[in-house]
Formats: sequence, structure tokens, C-alpha cells
Amino acid sequence: MAPRIAVFGSVNMDLVAYVDTPPARGETVQGRQFSQVPGGKGANQAIAAARAGADVVFLGAVGDDVFGSQLRATLVDNGIDVSGLRTVGGASGIAHIVVDREGNNSIIVIPGANGTVTGLRENDTLLLDGAQALLLQLETPLSGVIAAARAGRSLGVTTVLTPAPAQPLPQELLECVDVLLPNQYEAATITGEDTPERALAALLETVPEVIITLGSRGALYGARDREPLWVPVVQVETVDTTGAGDTFCGAYAVARTEGQDPESALRFAAKAAALSVRIPGASTSMPTRAEIDAF
Ligand code: ATP
Repeated sequence: MAPRIAVFGSVNMDLVAYVDTPPARGETVQGRQFSQVPGGKGANQAIAAARAGADVVFLGAVGDDVFGSQLRATLVDNGIDVSGLRTVGGASGIAHIVVDREGNNSIIVIPGANGTVTGLRENDTLLLDGAQALLLQLETPLSGVIAAARAGRSLGVTTVLTPAPAQPLPQELLECVDVLLPNQYEAATITGEDTPERALAALLETVPEVIITLGSRGALYGARDREPLWVPVVQVETVDTTGAGDTFCGAYAVARTEGQDPESALRFAAKAAALSVRIPGASTSMPTRAEIDAF
């Protein structure tokens, strides 16, 4: 039977404008291309986990605008249970992204409905009950993330936190986290340590299991009862790494909840993430279970 994974977090519409040179203050420039892509770390992790083979339930909020219905439909199209997705009055979350000629981006995030996810409703607790893992990120208000982590912990659900955007983490959250999954920048911001090895050691003082992802250098895994393990990157032709971390997270959670040991779950996650960087976009590039297994 497929594992059941709950995801509590953000869902945005990414509005991406491609331009040679971004406008200076007061200037209007003509862009080259526009794309509208569902995003938000919560939705991305939910889609990654669903495609990798889990039954996924999503807890979050969209607005009552046109983006809200499109975002809901995207989750449903990926087979995700949206009974924990609220529609609230006002705008959905938006990420306004400008990509220049060299591929550098500047991003404005307007939380919209994501900003209303400040706690858990009774129905949310019912949805968490029965999940084997709960995936959390920090793009919705901290009060809600803490409430979800506490509920997950008290129900015996394995809690996995991606601490992005990077910020100092309160002890009341850390004590409810089973697996912390920062990238190298987040790990450095949280710990103040400048090497992955030292950051890993510092994080393991508060969380039992830590994975620091290092982009094209792979990942570093640690748990309290074992030596750190380097996870090699799977070499592929890289087109767009957006969403690689969310793909890694969703796939790792699926493999662990299926009962795979950390080594094989990490290999599975690295394969899924590598497949995602070969194709442009975040949610659009996430591989299916068949693609990961065949790779
Ligand atoms: P994002 O915020 O875009 O989701 P991230 O910064 O959270 O990404 P990264 O550390 O960049 O996450 O990457 C996560 C994992 O994806 C890496 O540990 C690695 O396994 C895989 N990966 C990243 N970049 C590449 C690449 N160029 N080629 C192959 N695999 C990659």
C-alpha cells in the first residue's frame, strides 16, 4: 500500500517574466516571455511526494481568485487529497519572478492566502492522523507550522522540516522535528557554522536526523547514532535546478515511509532530484515513480 504523507504549507502562483535587463526605477522595458507556474514549497513538496508514489494530503489555503482555482486543480490533477485546502477571501499567494538574460532572478513573494494559515483546524488534525510523515516548510506563519509540528509529534507522525526561507528556529519547533532538511545556506544561517560538517554536528544537537543538501555537490546526511554519510550527486545535464530541494524532500519522505533504510532513501531522493534538474520549472519537472525507478 502507498504510504500516506501530509504536507502543511504554502501554495503560490509563480508569475515569471523573462527579460534581457530588468527595469530600473521608473523604467518600462519589453520582456521576452512570460510563464505562469504553480509553486510554493508546500505545493512543490506535495507534488514531488505524490509523483514519487505516496498518497498525499495537502493542508494550506488559496484565495477565492482565479489563481486559487487553478492551484487547487493542479494539486487535484496530481492525485493530491485537497480536503485540507481552504479557500479564503482575497488573493492567492503569488511569487512575482523576473529572470534576466543570465538566468539571475529577483523575486517578490506576496503571501496572500498563505498568510492566513496561522494554526490547525479540527479537521486538519483528523487528516494528520493516519499519515506516516508530515512535511513542513517556513513559507506560512510560524504559529501554524509549530501547531502542525506539535500535532504531528503527538500523533506519532514523522515530522520533516525544510527550514526555508532561512531564519532562526525556535526551540519549541525544533523539539517537534524528526528530520531537518536545510540546504547549505539555510544550514549556515541557522547554525552560524561555515562548513556542512560543522553545521551538521551543531544541528544534530537538537534534531535526531539531518540532511544538508549541497546542490551539485550532493548532500550530507547525519543521525545521532551513526557516522555522517556523503550522498553523491547523480550526474546529469543541468537545465534548471529550481525545485530540486523540494523534489529531494518529497522523494526521501516517500522512500523512508515505505521502509527503505536511510542510504537507499537518499539514493532514491538524489535520483529524483537529478531527474528534476534536466527539465525547466519546479513542479513541472518532478519525476514520476516509474521514471525514478527506471533511471
Ligand atoms: P531549491 O530551493 O531550488 O528547491 P535547494 O537549494 O533546496 O533547491 P539543492 O541543495 O540545490 O536544494 O539541491 C537538492 C538536491 O538536488 C541535491 O542534494 C542534489 O541531490 C540534487 N541536485 C541539485 N543540483 C543538481 C545538479 N546540478 N545535478 C544533479 N543533481 C542536483
